[in-house]
Amino acid sequence: MLAKQPQREVVLDLRNITKTYSTGTLDVQALRSVSLSIHRGEFVSIMGPSGSGKSTLLHILGALDQPTSGEYYLDGVDVAKLNARQLAAVRNRKIGFVFQSFNLLKRTSAVRQVELPLIYARVRNRLSQARSALESVGLRARLHHLPSELSGGQQQRVAIARAVVSAPAIILADEPTGNLDSSSGIEVLKIFQEMNREKGMTLIIVTHDPFVARHTDRIIMLRDGNIVADQAVRNPIQAGSVERTSELSQLDDGITEPSFVKRQELNE
Ligand code: ADP
Ligand code: MG
Repeated sequence: MLAKQPQREVVLDLRNITKTYSTGTLDVQALRSVSLSIHRGEFVSIMGPSGSGKSTLLHILGALDQPTSGEYYLDGVDVAKLNARQLAAVRNRKIGFVFQSFNLLKRTSAVRQVELPLIYARVRNRLSQARSALESVGLRARLHHLPSELSGGQQQRVAIARAVVSAPAIILADEPTGNLDSSSGIEVLKIFQEMNREKGMTLIIVTHDPFVARHTDRIIMLRDGNIVADQAVRNPIQAGSVERTSELSQLDDGITEPSFVKRQELNE
């Protein structure tokens, strides 16, 4: 029996979301009918084969793109009703993005990269906030380095600092460990787990890697634009506590019962 958890606030609420891309004569139904609620403080991964709609879903969650139909409430705001300018404002205030390829500016120092979202938001004390965001990802000694002077893992940590510096409601990451070696990937997962457990941040990551997904608390599985599974992870891996190689044999069990319990069971 699990202890009864306090009722948590829904921060993302999607109802019958569809997305159709029209390219010339062909229509691609990237999302067919996705309904999904995510609570504040959850750490969720979205998995599924290539082309199943993961990035499309993440773009809609992040207000980078509008659904074709359906309703989407982001932190209480009905996103589907917003125009492009309002959408951009919501995005800047509520969402932090982390991308597979870091998306850093080439000729800009780490601390300046992290300051940028604060400049757009017209925040004071930018330098001290940017510094402390970089400290929180272990880069205090790299403030003035350019991306080319940093390892891939360090660049991704700059990108994470940039995503969190404006204290967004949600962090969204598309394959954040996809371009990293395994120890840098684990560093990134460690930072995400800390942000989630110690600061209560809501995190959603897309990954095709079951080992990465097993570090989160809930796995949503997409196939052909539909959610085909949505399960709680019974014993999430503590980042750094398990070697990927030794874990791999257990992973096959990990994505089926009994390592997962159905979410309904959790709520009972
Ligand atoms: P995933 O991230 O799971 O690989 P995507 O969300 O990128 O999947 O893509 C889902 C489907 O939508 C795929 O069939 C893809 O080809 C199509 N698609 C994605 N983006 C576009 C676009 N901008 N224009 C047309 N089709 C797209
Ligand atoms: Mg993708």
